[in-house]
Amino acid sequence: MSTPLTQADREQLERRLRARHDALTAHIQAQLAGRTRAEHAREVLLQDGDDAPQRSADREIDLAMTDLETVELAALDAALQRLDDGHYGTCAECGTDIPLARLQAEPQAALCVGCQGARERGRPHAASL
Ligand SMILES: [Zn+2]
Repeated sequence: MSTPLTQADREQLERRLRARHDALTAHIQAQLAGRTRAEHAREVLLQDGDDAPQRSADREIDLAMTDLETVELAALDAALQRLDDGHYGTCAECGTDIPLARLQAEPQAALCVGCQGARERGRPHAASL
């Protein structure tokens, strides 16, 4: 399968993937470390009957953010793996070349716009539309 990506395109996208990957990894690690301290503080506060429900809600949001970042990190890992094995830049679903403009907007994209759209329309929450 031919690819429209030049070596320079590939290297530029790989640098962006690695930079984002490193930043996300550092951020997630910082959040996990912070969560441990917050957890301890919450236990102390609970003994005093403080505003635990609000603190619990804040923590839920932190967890949700970390989940999103973990999902993105997995996508970045997968993209870097595809760079290694030579499949980067082709749609994982239909095998067509993913346009450079799409990869520049979203370097970790694994699907062409058509397959991405089909997958999103197939999601349960969109089925009633
Ligand atoms: Zn496709």
